[in-house]
Amino acid sequence: MACPLCDRLKLSGDKKYPYLIHEFKNSYLYLGEHQFYRGYCVLVTKDHYKEMTDIPEEQRIEVFQEMMIASKLIEKTFSPNKMNMCSLGNVVPHVHWHFFPRYISDRDFKNPPWLQMHNFDSAKIGPEQRDELIEMLKTNFKSLSRVSDSGEGLTSS
Ligand SMILES: [Zn+2]
Repeated sequence: MACPLCDRLKLSGDKKYPYLIHEFKNSYLYLGEHQFYRGYCVLVTKDHYKEMTDIPEEQRIEVFQEMMIASKLIEKTFSPNKMNMCSLGNVVPHVHWHFFPRYISDRDFKNPPWLQMHNFDSAKIGPEQRDELIEMLKTNFKSLSRVSDSGEGLTSS
């Protein structure tokens, strides 16, 4: 079955997908190709699972820890007023989490980010802005961490 996220994972493994921020043990963290919400990122599990409940429990706990590290990284880098995390998968049924940093200044702060999705394409970014944002995130990742992939360091800072 063709899966666009499995295709992206393959590109990531070959270092050919330029939006990659970090490779975790069980997932990849990407900068979103649009930045309608500044700092929008997506975390994709390395294995093709349709539901979170399909992931073996031990691995699911690790995925959750990776999600928390990703969220903390985005919070630290962009200081949103609120983080929105969503996993839907109706279009691409391969577990992935959207991280939408939300700001009081958003035009529709109190509503779900999807209500603006018709504007997402207009917020696609070029290579320069992409590289700048990824660099900011990577720099913060180093200071967030001593984050081993076990999630240590999460409670620090
Ligand atoms: Zn897939």
